[in-house]
Amino acid sequence: SSIVPASTGPHKTHCPYCALQCGMELTPVEGTASSTPAPGGREPLPVTVNPRDFPTNAGRLCQKGWTAAAVLDVPDRITTPLVRGADGELAPATWDEALELITARVRAIQAEHGPEGVAIFGGGGLTNEKAYALGKFARTVLRTPNIDYNGRFCMSSAAAAGNRAFGVDRGLPFPLTDLGGAEAILLLGSNPAETMPPFVQHLAGARGAAGLVIVDPRRSATARLTEDGQGVHVQPVPGTDLVVLLALLHVVIAEKLVDTAYLTERTAGYDDVVRSVSAWWPERAETVCGVPAEDLRRLARRLAAASPARGGRGAYVLTGRGVEQSAQGTATVTAAINLSLALGLVGREGSGYGCLTGQGNGQGGREHGQKSDQLPGYRKIDDPAARAHVASVWGVDPDTIPGPGKPAVALLNSLATPGGPQALFVHGSNVLVSAPNADRVRERLEALDLLVVCDFVPSETARIADVVLPVTQWAEEEGTMTSLEGRVIRRRQAVDAPGQARSELWLLAELARRLGSGVHFGTDPADVFDELARASAGGPADYSGLSHARLDAHEDGGGSGLYWPCPAPADAPADASGDGHAGSPARGEHPGTPRMFLDTFGTPDGRARMVPVDHGGPADDVRGDAPTYLVTGRVLQHYQSGAQTRRVPDLDRLVPEPYVELHPQLGLRVGVADGDRVRLTSTRGMVEAVARWTDAVRPEVVFMPFHWGGLGGVNRITSDAVDPISSMPEFKVCAVQVSPAGPA
Ligand code: SF4
Repeated sequence: SSIVPASTGPHKTHCPYCALQCGMELTPVEGTASSTPAPGGREPLPVTVNPRDFPTNAGRLCQKGWTAAAVLDVPDRITTPLVRGADGELAPATWDEALELITARVRAIQAEHGPEGVAIFGGGGLTNEKAYALGKFARTVLRTPNIDYNGRFCMSSAAAAGNRAFGVDRGLPFPLTDLGGAEAILLLGSNPAETMPPFVQHLAGARGAAGLVIVDPRRSATARLTEDGQGVHVQPVPGTDLVVLLALLHVVIAEKLVDTAYLTERTAGYDDVVRSVSAWWPERAETVCGVPAEDLRRLARRLAAASPARGGRGAYVLTGRGVEQSAQGTATVTAAINLSLALGLVGREGSGYGCLTGQGNGQGGREHGQKSDQLPGYRKIDDPAARAHVASVWGVDPDTIPGPGKPAVALLNSLATPGGPQALFVHGSNVLVSAPNADRVRERLEALDLLVVCDFVPSETARIADVVLPVTQWAEEEGTMTSLEGRVIRRRQAVDAPGQARSELWLLAELARRLGSGVHFGTDPADVFDELARASAGGPADYSGLSHARLDAHEDGGGSGLYWPCPAPADAPADASGDGHAGSPARGEHPGTPRMFLDTFGTPDGRARMVPVDHGGPADDVRGDAPTYLVTGRVLQHYQSGAQTRRVPDLDRLVPEPYVELHPQLGLRVGVADGDRVRLTSTRGMVEAVARWTDAVRPEVVFMPFHWGGLGGVNRITSDAVDPISSMPEFKVCAVQVSPAGPA
């Protein structure tokens, strides 16, 4: 291995993948002295991975976490800048050559097309520090409004609904471990038994009380947890989860199961919501969502019985991408929140509403300014006070900070169009696999004057770039992440990066300098965090009482990270500790906020907003020429676009290729046997993969995982219709025709 261990460790850190951010310990392997041969017979891996006791994983890891060390040493790791030459091939270059080329092209493009001629696409896996630096770079160096990130595909509907209802959005506004005491949990559109298996232990209380309710059109691994009398699996028609929720609230209201005192004291808008669900009696809902009316009644009563108002042990409503990635995703999450508020669950210890964030830093990624409509501290970019505060931290005139830019799908679709961006920087994202209607995205990217991709592996997107910049990854860098609970945790370096790989913090600082910006860009993650903390002060996601040093001291003292909001005392000096890092322990008196909303919500009057919503149906509904619903999802062994996990031999061997699940009845009707190759055709194109017969899906539904590109890249045919409020694309409902395919 070319990787040199940074120190001997063991280093307490967290998994590189999902938002559970399982605690792990990395022990660098000196030289080649590993006692564990690497998979595939290659040299020993640079670190050994062991789980550690951290609240979200309690000493467990999934297969992805156990094998994460292999990502540090993949054979095709990018170790030098690459520049596309006159022959059309990417060839090694020096950093100086690559950055000079980028600088010259950016200058020329902005001279011709204005600042907005350059765009940035970020990622929800970047550390908080990198996400912050990226937003600052866009607004102060490029002065472009055009920055958004792949969290738009992941979190935006829940974020929009949470912000509207509670005045602030934190995925889980309570510690994950609180779920363990619940009597009932309603989980909609999430499959944590595959996406984050250690999470399942937190469902034990509800399973034991037979109060686990899984809403999913597919009998997923999570849905199977309800078997043997441990709960209920509700299997609606795709795109009708909103109807299920409207009907549940209808029953709760009709049977007078609401928490009247709570509604009076803590909410606004209830009467309008009562009117909005009056037409969704269970028998009518059944005709749309396919869930028997009596089941809907039983579920509503079960949930209500577990609520504190009715003497229950507590209940939670949780949503995931299955219901959020929809053209009515914000409405669906709003309905889930309305139901939770009607039962008096939110802001009460032992009950609540929450969203299960997916990406590793999906929560922190949306708080520090890489989102098109936001500034650090989770502030709105069009709020004059927020602009003034952030501008003072950046040392710029507030009027020079651009206004809101285009959200992800609109941004990608505008690339290389007249008036649209002609250059794009991609950081921590593989849009050719992960964006909806991905063939269209490929067309737009290929038409750009300049595509720069920063990555550590040659992802599908990196392979079509003009310049590829090699960057550090999880165990090669210091920083912070924010878990799905809003818990700010430390990512620690265990090994040095190979070759010429550098941190994005360094390359953004270097580009800022070369582009003639006078704005300071730090390269030390602790310093960048301190600046981020100052920029966040007073915002909804206030990190001002935190620092790397304080988080380290907390962890060494037996703690497990600190939850935002965590403000600094108002009179704290910038650097009370004198260690050179503002925000160090001496100023960090605030204990953090594990449970939000216990006394008040973040709205101007402190009351949660109930907002009436109604079902409008999916944007891409089934019809004569596309009579089958396609839903997409993940498998245990792979993460997001698969750029990392497809390169891990132990994971690739288990699930080496995409597949299509279909019901035997459908298979017989269209002439596709188990094991045949099947073709799915939508208005956007077609994909092919191996067919797997299963009764886990309804006969009118097929399922396909989304971790691959090429012929089996399902996002080539998914819809880029978006939610009107959150701009979240409708990944989860796509009308297709199913037919036999030729041989591979
Ligand atoms: Fe934990 Fe998620 Fe990593 Fe699996 S992928 S070990 S669930 S953080």
